[in-house]
Amino acid sequence: MRSMKTYAEYDIDFRPGLTATAIDARERFVQTSDGHSTRYDKLLIATGGRPKRSPWEIEELPESSMAFQTVDDARRIIARSDEARNVLVVGGGFIGYELAEGIAFRNKAKVTWLMRGPWFLSNILDQQAGAICKDLGEQAGVNMIDSDQIRSVEKVGEVFRVSTMTGHRFEVDLIAQGIGIDYHIEAAISAGLVGEPGIRTNSRLRTKIPDIFAAGDIALFEDEGARRYRQTGTWDSAMAQGKIAADNMAGGNQPFQEVATYTTTMFGSTIAVLGDVGRDAAGAETITVVGEDGRQYRKLCFHDRRLVGAVIIGPPKGRKKLLEMIRSREELEGKPESVLASLPA
Ligand SMILES: Cc1cc2nc3c(=O)[nH]c(=O)nc-3n(C[C@H](O)[C@H](O)[C@H](O)COP(=O)(O)OP(=O)(O)OC[C@H]3O[C@@H](n4cnc5c(N)ncnc54)[C@H](O)[C@@H]3O)c2cc1C
Repeated sequence: MRSMKTYAEYDIDFRPGLTATAIDARERFVQTSDGHSTRYDKLLIATGGRPKRSPWEIEELPESSMAFQTVDDARRIIARSDEARNVLVVGGGFIGYELAEGIAFRNKAKVTWLMRGPWFLSNILDQQAGAICKDLGEQAGVNMIDSDQIRSVEKVGEVFRVSTMTGHRFEVDLIAQGIGIDYHIEAAISAGLVGEPGIRTNSRLRTKIPDIFAAGDIALFEDEGARRYRQTGTWDSAMAQGKIAADNMAGGNQPFQEVATYTTTMFGSTIAVLGDVGRDAAGAETITVVGEDGRQYRKLCFHDRRLVGAVIIGPPKGRKKLLEMIRSREELEGKPESVLASLPA
């Protein structure tokens, strides 16, 4: 995404292909996989994560299930799924969705999508929204199975025989999975930083160790507005945190306050999730409207008469306005219904 020339222009000594293996926070240096160490005045850890390995992977056939993170992963999955008759997608989050939708869209293999939760994104969406997504998936030809998990996988001839906890059995040519990420925390542990998934920071993205900052997927940062720690897993947040951390490393003192958002296609429709919804909005007052066709859905979540989150399924009209309202943390003047009424139809 950037050329070596660009890094040089910005006076960045970019060293691709190296892993930071340990951090010495007392002497302030980072050891790298080439055996060298580099001194720092300020250090940013933005090491993200890697797809969780599947517990069902067959040792002698590592290609039996494919995780999805890099462009190379995408190319491999496309090549394998185009040749397959049946593909099983595992995981009820956004990555599982992107796999199910992407493979079904190619119109080659028959796709079964298996998820552990009772519906897609069950930490975020309510049952009604989950049912709309299921309906959209089935319309796209995807066989949707919820509340179930893989029990065993065995190779039989050229196919994989999969059995699930609730007794489903399938024969598939490929398993593609999005079952969460494990964070790259090894170097941070050596500095004494990690005791939980991710690296805890204050709202300024400073860790408890002087001059070490964390940003992106790995940062478990203090959200001053919501008065709790949170971790986001989106590109926009990672980019925004990188900028704030850089500014603070250069002497600034800005809090990170961006509202988390995620917008993606949803089997020919669209889903937008803004701010705190579902589990993150426990105790919130909510209002929901579903369009006459049963496919369009809007839900708003309020805390103390302030909009804290929203979900839109269907054209994301009014998304920007809702985002501004969440950001402003302004108290509502009228009834919560008036917010819904003010959005474009
Ligand atoms: C398949 C997929 C689809 C996604 N789609 C979307 C989307 O549509 N919209 C969205 O907002 N987000 C999406 N995301 C999430 C988004 O990619 C992440 O939130 C974002 O990339 C996080 O940025 P980051 O810089 O924190 O970590 P990463 O992008 O993971 O970057 C971390 C980097 O650090 C390197 N690294 C790790 N450990 C070390 C070490 N010890 N030494 C040196 N380098 C190290 C890694 O190799 C990697 O290059 C998607 C993620 C995946 C996997």
